[in-house]
Amino acid sequence: MFRVSKMLLAFSLLLLTLAGGVAAASENHVPTDQVYKIGEDVFGFTSGGGTHSMFVIGEKNVVVFETFNPDHSKKLIRAVRSFTDKKITHAFQTHNHWDHAGGGQSFLDEGAETVMHELAAQWVAAHPRPDTVAGSTIWSGSRKDYDFGDFTVEMHYLGLNHGLGMTVFVVPEKKVAFIADLVTPNRVMFTVVPDFNIGEWERSLGEILALDFEVAVCSHTELPGEAAFKGCTKQHVSEERQYIRDLRGAIIAKFEKGTGFYEIAEKIALPQYAHWVGYDKWLEMNAYRLMLDLYMGPFPWVHNAN
Ligand SMILES: [Zn+2]
Ligand SMILES: [Zn+2]
Repeated sequence: MFRVSKMLLAFSLLLLTLAGGVAAASENHVPTDQVYKIGEDVFGFTSGGGTHSMFVIGEKNVVVFETFNPDHSKKLIRAVRSFTDKKITHAFQTHNHWDHAGGGQSFLDEGAETVMHELAAQWVAAHPRPDTVAGSTIWSGSRKDYDFGDFTVEMHYLGLNHGLGMTVFVVPEKKVAFIADLVTPNRVMFTVVPDFNIGEWERSLGEILALDFEVAVCSHTELPGEAAFKGCTKQHVSEERQYIRDLRGAIIAKFEKGTGFYEIAEKIALPQYAHWVGYDKWLEMNAYRLMLDLYMGPFPWVHNAN
């Protein structure tokens, strides 16, 4: 482990010099590779551009979480290789969207399995793109565990919430989790809240709170500076859920005051979230999306996705 601690020292010195640059990096898409320790032999990795992966170094093997795209995946493999020569055996992928499910081929080339829920794999197969391949191992149902001897990977499919097959991963021995898209600390909901079933998302956040972890890597954390490299916690899961509830409450309050449908979104203010990334530009879009959900009924929805 001497090698790991030496690397960590080097990385922590690097992080000190770059403190404060994370939000800027994610918004400006500066390609900055960084590794940070999140638990015992568990690390977060970002290649810049607001994409965070996670990897666990076990006694016999290494597993990674979230491949994103070929460029990110190649850098993630390089980051793992700077710690250990152990074989990367599994690359776990959270859901179907192109911006998360790309890059799997890099891990197949390493001899690893790529693991994806069947609902995600069906979508990927139906919407091919050169840099996105369906998982080489496809699983179904709501729960499956991988026992790697010294650690376990729990796969939790919580039903509809965002995209298809969205899986939350927990490594209970390390008390860590990997969460994509469902929890983004210090940021309002993403633009027009694409492909989120908001009610089911809210339900899922409650179920995530019950999972066995203390720290998670959240795929697009917007925590400022060094805080981003400490990972996200259940407090951020609660805050994500509270934001949904507060925004819905503010919309209903305006509606009950008689504000016209097309005036509500621009008149919404949630000053308690004014410091969150995206507040100025996206709050109105968030409000419209939530109003349409209330007006049209929950969407997206498919039969047998739960
Ligand atoms: Zn997504
Ligand atoms: Zn995402």
